[in-house]
Amino acid sequence: MSGTFVGMPAFPEAAREAVRDATLRGNLRHATHTIRAKRAKAVAEVPDWDRLREAGKRIKDHTLLHLDRYLEQLEASVTAAGGTVHWAADAEEANRIVAGLVKATGESEVVKVKSMATQEIGLNEALEAEGIRAYETDLAELIVQLGKDRPSHILVPAIHRNRGEIRDIFRREMGAWGRPAPDGLTDTPAELAEAARLHLREKFLRAKVGISGANFMVAETGTLVVVESEGNGRMCLTLPETLISVVGIEKIVPTWRDLEVFLQTLPRSSTAERMNPYTSMWTGTTDGDGPRAFHLVLLDNGRTDTLADEVGRQALRCIRCSACLNVCPVYERAGGHAYGSVYPGPIGAILSPQLRGTGSEIDASLPYASSLCGACYEVCPVAIDIPEVLVHLRERVVEGGQVTSRGDKVVLKPAKGHAAERAAMRAARWAFSHPGALRTGQRLASRTRRLHPRTLPGPGRAWSGTRDLPEVPAEPFRDWWRRTDGGKDGVK
Ligand code: SF4
Repeated sequence: MSGTFVGMPAFPEAAREAVRDATLRGNLRHATHTIRAKRAKAVAEVPDWDRLREAGKRIKDHTLLHLDRYLEQLEASVTAAGGTVHWAADAEEANRIVAGLVKATGESEVVKVKSMATQEIGLNEALEAEGIRAYETDLAELIVQLGKDRPSHILVPAIHRNRGEIRDIFRREMGAWGRPAPDGLTDTPAELAEAARLHLREKFLRAKVGISGANFMVAETGTLVVVESEGNGRMCLTLPETLISVVGIEKIVPTWRDLEVFLQTLPRSSTAERMNPYTSMWTGTTDGDGPRAFHLVLLDNGRTDTLADEVGRQALRCIRCSACLNVCPVYERAGGHAYGSVYPGPIGAILSPQLRGTGSEIDASLPYASSLCGACYEVCPVAIDIPEVLVHLRERVVEGGQVTSRGDKVVLKPAKGHAAERAAMRAARWAFSHPGALRTGQRLASRTRRLHPRTLPGPGRAWSGTRDLPEVPAEPFRDWWRRTDGGKDGVK
């Protein structure tokens, strides 16, 4: 069972530990720089990339605006095709539904396709509590599960591990989960892949229940789409008798024509491939082909609250390509675990505080886990303005007017901490609404400017230790303006 993110410390604390880990930083730097260079090349090959990006953005915005209508259409299409649709308001309800469906089959084991939604709700842990063992079949997820670890990247969950570490995990843990690692296993990629293939093959052949997420759901036909690179997804989606898919409600697209856009932008943005190796699509059930029963669990878990926010809702456009992680200077140094969520990096910094609210220290700190350099926005294939949302969420945290998620009501909750910042803002508001006092204060500051310290005292010391404080001018601007009649007398 992999670890969970429950009780994670705030981002600065978690990141401090991560930046001290030289191996982690080396692994991350190597991996992110390699993927980012390949992505840039793959994107540069497409002459109409900007138009595809704009089309993706518009399709997602349109769908989100009419989400209720498309969800009803999807439910009708899936049902007509022989599937069963379940609605889950939160993680607890989704886990309860899935556990009940698995128990109804009489099975105690399931195979899983890599799925962010099931990680978000802690499905593996919930199933374990019900006596059901979930086997991850994506290679990186397998490494995370065997290592009792947590994912640290959307696309490459074990990005923080190097080959030597993976070999040690396979040697040590595989035997407890099924077929052991071959004797004398080395850290060459071919041998590691073969060990995983042999270990997983017996699970695919035995499994009666498969669990997946989906990259897209097409409302007009009720078709679900999983995009993956290893073929493990295809095995999980076709071999078991029962298939259960847990999917966030924002993953919908209206038509097949819309899908065409994302099947061009997603592979190039994520794995830098022109075309995805395995794109599996299924519509309900088909006699004599694939699973006999199909269940779709539609997951809200904070998404409708996110949708209610005019600025923040753009986070729901995300197609989980991970391009923003690979260009982020903060992610590159802090690693994925510091974000305290299955959604790390820039997208995690705007998605987690919206899905979960900012009630915890980690969620209140995430909007600050960015230098606002804008590299994430530049590469995003659906043009999510992540810096804009980060600033918006910072405002909420400071103002203490954050919306807590869950439930059917929007609840304003006072922010914890940031007392000094709030006090400074209150003082500024008072000064700007009392012009006489402001003028007196400015004159006093100019006259005493030689006495001003060059560094700030107390908690501000670290900030001013790496910055030059601006010098106070000898004459306040407003005095200069009056004396020179707005600079008309030639004084510059
Ligand atoms: S925010 Fe954009 S770049 Fe980041 S994972 Fe989502 S779609 Fe990709």
